[in-house]
Amino acid sequence: MIVIKTREEIELMRESALIVSKTLGELAKHITPGVTTLELDKIAEEYIRDHGAVPGFLGLYDFPNTLCMSPNSQVVHGIPNNEPLVEGDIISIDCGALKHGFYGDHAYTFPVGEIAPETEKLLKVTKASLYTGIREFKANNRVGDVGYAIQKYCENHGYGVVRELVGHGLGSKMHEDPEMPNYGRRGRGKKFVEGMVVAIEPMINMGTHRIKQHKDGWTITTLDNKPSAHFEHDVALVDGKPELLSTFAYIYEALGIESDEEDEFRQEALIL
Ligand code: MG
Ligand code: MG
Repeated sequence: MIVIKTREEIELMRESALIVSKTLGELAKHITPGVTTLELDKIAEEYIRDHGAVPGFLGLYDFPNTLCMSPNSQVVHGIPNNEPLVEGDIISIDCGALKHGFYGDHAYTFPVGEIAPETEKLLKVTKASLYTGIREFKANNRVGDVGYAIQKYCENHGYGVVRELVGHGLGSKMHEDPEMPNYGRRGRGKKFVEGMVVAIEPMINMGTHRIKQHKDGWTITTLDNKPSAHFEHDVALVDGKPELLSTFAYIYEALGIESDEEDEFRQEALIL
């Protein structure tokens, strides 16, 4: 069942999303060679609680931490640990927060120091595919339109699109209907309607789309051990068009990156 949100509820969800956005921005300041994912996890938990929210993942389905931390060939759901990140790593950080009864949930894959050009390209293409997918989240389109757009964009670059893990509706539950796969067929699946809120989250592998699950019951890794990237935004359907509730602006501010990708997206969304 798809739970439609009122304008007021969407504004509350924006608050939850922004707490996650700011948490990721705070983390960006600390991602350097030598830091451990457990140290980053503590920073995130403190930041979220200091801002009147509760970590969204901690305890959810018994997940043990605040952040899902998935370096390099890990796709998603990695558990923070005491191993230091090293120069050339990438680290996908997925973060959730609960405030006023609503969840925010988004993700960004960070480079650690200098990374290989081919890995940089994976991050760039995966992030671009996120916006390509979000553009399809508009009135009268369907779930398959978003998945098709993401899949086509990434496969054109020779990358593998993970099948087993998908985006989702978002609200007073972390995972609501509909499921939002990153693959699909045009015109198939549930129709998008005003007031829907979804988390769109391409998980894209440099090599094969196939994955394996670790014995810890959580960590997912690429089958060929090549790198994987993950970017996620929270998006509401307002006036028939996609509206970003989350932002990467705090990350860019922390890293000193000039980016107009979200402004560009908003301009484009006006004419969708
Ligand atoms: Mg997430
Ligand atoms: Mg999600």
